[in-house]
Amino acid sequence: MAIVSKFFNTFFPYTCVLCGDHARKILCDSCFRKVKPYSGKRCVECSRPLPDENNVFCAQCLKGVAFEKGFSLFSYEEIKEIVYSFKYRNMPYIVHLLRFFSKEIRESGIFNDVSLLIPVPMHPKKIRKRGYNQASLIAHELSSIFHIPVAYDVLIKQKDTLPQVGLSYKQRLINLKGAFLIKNTERINKKTVILVDDVYTTGTTIDQCALLLQRNKTHPRFFTLSTTLLTH
Ligand SMILES: [Zn+2]
Ligand SMILES: [Zn+2]
Repeated sequence: MAIVSKFFNTFFPYTCVLCGDHARKILCDSCFRKVKPYSGKRCVECSRPLPDENNVFCAQCLKGVAFEKGFSLFSYEEIKEIVYSFKYRNMPYIVHLLRFFSKEIRESGIFNDVSLLIPVPMHPKKIRKRGYNQASLIAHELSSIFHIPVAYDVLIKQKDTLPQVGLSYKQRLINLKGAFLIKNTERINKKTVILVDDVYTTGTTIDQCALLLQRNKTHPRFFTLSTTLLTH
């Protein structure tokens, strides 16, 4: 029995995040096959899924956004269990899943001519509680795939805000007022940079960060692991 268990631990060092089976990587082969980048119609600006095939932009981008463009790899609905484990079950190594999708990310063109990756920051109090900022882990992983440096000291979260979930558009803006601060602006001057986060939900956080970057003579884009449908 011990030999069998040793065999599994050597060749299948992981426990599949989704089904709990022995796995060679973060997911077992069967679950991994089900995880696919979103392939349906997307908004041409923010890449959010578009339910109406006739639309080119989502309602939010039509209103105007501060970022140049954005790309999210997965539909949040299809990987929400994985995102939840990544954020709340102390499984930071889930970030390595990105390595298996570098081709799709590269083909999106979002990293072309980009000088710097900037993770959406978390308040230090929240980082202490969770142990890590998932956006920083994603930025670090992308940096090792695409060889673009990460700046952890440019965008700072100075206010411990409420979760954005359940707030109206107006409340979200009030919640985020004065939440972020830009430092070391000489590092971003006139550069194309990418904001990095785990989920693109209402888009308010990314857009507020992009606005700050844009005001500091920067061309902001964004990359998130996943994106939701626009629900408002
Ligand atoms: Zn599995
Ligand atoms: Zn859009």
